Amino acid sequence: MNKKYIALISLMLCLSLLFSSCENDTETTTEPDIITEAQVNNNSPENEETQAPQEDPSEDNTTEEPSQEETTLPGTVVGYTSKGFAISEKDGITYVDGVLVANKTYSLPSSYNPGELLPECESAFSSLQAAAANENLTIWNASGFRSYELQESLYTRYSNRDGKEAADRYSARPGHSEHQSGLAIDLNDITSAFADTAEGKWIAENCWKYGFILRYPMGKEAQTGYMYEPWHIRYVGVAAAEKIHNSGLCLEEYYGITSVYENTEEVITEVETASEEETELNEVITTEAQSFSEEITSEQNFG
Ligand SMILES: [Zn+2]
Repeated sequence: MNKKYIALISLMLCLSLLFSSCENDTETTTEPDIITEAQVNNNSPENEETQAPQEDPSEDNTTEEPSQEETTLPGTVVGYTSKGFAISEKDGITYVDGVLVANKTYSLPSSYNPGELLPECESAFSSLQAAAANENLTIWNASGFRSYELQESLYTRYSNRDGKEAADRYSARPGHSEHQSGLAIDLNDITSAFADTAEGKWIAENCWKYGFILRYPMGKEAQTGYMYEPWHIRYVGVAAAEKIHNSGLCLEEYYGITSVYENTEEVITEVETASEEETELNEVITTEAQSFSEEITSEQNFG
């Protein structure tokens, strides 16, 4: 009898605890949207949730809070950035607030191969080109999609020639290139001189209107992991591009993520024999390398 009585008391205690925790849940829904999203996804790691959005969004230079819209995030929420944006994963690809991220921290699977620019990027780029043409400016796609294999061979070539440390400043290791995403484009002659052309200036001021951002802005190498690339634009969609552009931050700063290789001793594969695709890209390789040399020279001049 006693045992039954104790069991009954325990059950009632459990039930009352359950109800009180439900009440807490409904209270938290009045807090920032990020937590609501996590609850919807039923996948909020407790430690991440506690450090999530309460403090950090206020540090954001923008006036808007992150993730205002109830967007459907791709895949499963696996955590939150230092600025409270949800990080989700789907098919090995990482998204921050729904925006695909490929940098030194977040890589793309070698099997991810759209084969060309994604349709939304392609059509946005056509609009951008048309708008530029209206102002008598000529913007062209010098290098768009690159496969994992091609990036592997490019990076290997660069690092063999300039050394890995130098190559890491201007070329991505395989799996870490935005060009593999089908959402990045290198413009025109792919040189640092592009920034001072009418086209380069127009791009810097207007590309956000078409959903693109300058991915590697000047003075942001510590955040992006790459030196200034005025020619490299990335499609993130108009809503995100507008916010990032207005913030004056680079993508990493805006979302509160890092761009650092986990393994600095990552093995580099041997140089392969040049494929047809590579031969076609010889010009790109040459201009990228030239641009890098110029950059190094000017840095040395600045001391
Ligand atoms: Zn690029």
